[in-house]
Amino acid sequence: MIENDKPHEECGVIGVFAPNEDVARMIFFGLYALQHRGQEAAGIAVSDGSAMRLHKDAGLVAQVFNSENLSHLEGHYAIGHTRYSTTGSSHRRNAGPFMVETFHGPLAVAHNGNLVNAMDLRQNVLQRGVGLSSSSDSEVMTMMLAGAEGDTWEERIANTMPQWHGAYSLVILTRDQVFAVRDPWGFRPLSVGRLPSGGHAAASETGALKTLGCDEIREVKPGEIVTLSNTVLRFRQGLPPMPQLARCIFEHIYFSRPDSFWDGQRVHNVRQRLGEELAREAPIEADVVVPVPDSSMPAAIGYARESKIPYNEGFTKNRYIARTFIQPTDSLRKQGIALKFNALEENLRGQRVIMIDDSIVRGNTSGPLVKLLRNAGAREVHVRITCPPIAHPCYMGVDMGTYDEMIAHKHTVQEICDYIGADSLHFLSVEGMMRAVGRREGYCNACFTGVYPLEIDRAHVKTGFEKAIAG
Ligand code: SF4
Repeated sequence: MIENDKPHEECGVIGVFAPNEDVARMIFFGLYALQHRGQEAAGIAVSDGSAMRLHKDAGLVAQVFNSENLSHLEGHYAIGHTRYSTTGSSHRRNAGPFMVETFHGPLAVAHNGNLVNAMDLRQNVLQRGVGLSSSSDSEVMTMMLAGAEGDTWEERIANTMPQWHGAYSLVILTRDQVFAVRDPWGFRPLSVGRLPSGGHAAASETGALKTLGCDEIREVKPGEIVTLSNTVLRFRQGLPPMPQLARCIFEHIYFSRPDSFWDGQRVHNVRQRLGEELAREAPIEADVVVPVPDSSMPAAIGYARESKIPYNEGFTKNRYIARTFIQPTDSLRKQGIALKFNALEENLRGQRVIMIDDSIVRGNTSGPLVKLLRNAGAREVHVRITCPPIAHPCYMGVDMGTYDEMIAHKHTVQEICDYIGADSLHFLSVEGMMRAVGRREGYCNACFTGVYPLEIDRAHVKTGFEKAIAG
């Protein structure tokens, strides 16, 4: 894959119960709507009420599935998974969903998130004599459910949840039920909605539910188990929600589709307010406000509106280049950012430009973008970022890199400004970010503050886990 300098969401999940519908195709289009949440592998598991079938592989949704393999996935109940994985874990064997045969029938699980106690749980599972075939915590969760106590799957899920510490938004498929389950901190999004046919769907993002034509969309509450197996949804609180919720603030900043809702708010609108806050915090005299497409466009509109400086496009982005697995030739690689962005010279020549971007992680793309603007004739380039400096890793399901890789962990804002060659640089403050979100509490912002919502045993979190077993 061609790298970008963005944090990576690790997965998108979707589940459907729809009698008399081609559920595999519904999941396929739902996964397409969640493709931005994971571009390394995709999978669909389907049950027809007696047998369960699974197809998964490395690649984009459209590369993994075709009419032929979808036609074998017949049933009324289905789940799907699209995966991005951290270094060392991009093995085909880590692709979801995970499917096993249990004493109570077949079981498949798709997971978005990351458990901070995965290493301990893995050891417990192995000590019980259960073999594992991947380095994924999702497989550990699957095996824990397979061996859980309880008379029903709902009970087995509720009995297992207290052992899982960290982020999990799950869709679970059994022979004749689909479950949507969310951790009690509420880290990652998960919503359910009613399909036009009368069935139901659950998905990481409301945008994917809209793609399937859902209405009556509502969030799966933190700690809740929702059962999809009937025309009426069943709700059960598996664990009480944490007194301090920890929704990932990055869903607003970058991950979620702009048309999705997160914490009851349209992401597009929150991004516009992030831009407005930036304009108030870091005003500068300039001629044009330019977004780094696509995710920064709403924030640039907000910045322009608040600053009364005209908005215009300065870059054209090749929206497909990041999605190729073909590595560029050396001569093409030397062109770097040009593979992905071209400048619109007419909009930039002689202008004092404010470039709006949503985040800087390693700092390896901002400099080339600033240079591209200057080469196109920009007189000044002022960079404004719609979140604070990312200075701490995420252990809850997002690949932000390590401390060593994060430019803001080692360098001051002025040093970063010099490094990327901008005339000025400002990161939105934590206070400004929370004002834009309109909430003071209920969010995780640990990657900015280093204050984690749950205890992290750094020796035992995901990276160590994967290093220990990556093969
Ligand atoms: S550390 Fe950052 S990316 Fe991770 S859950 Fe918290 S806000 Fe989201």
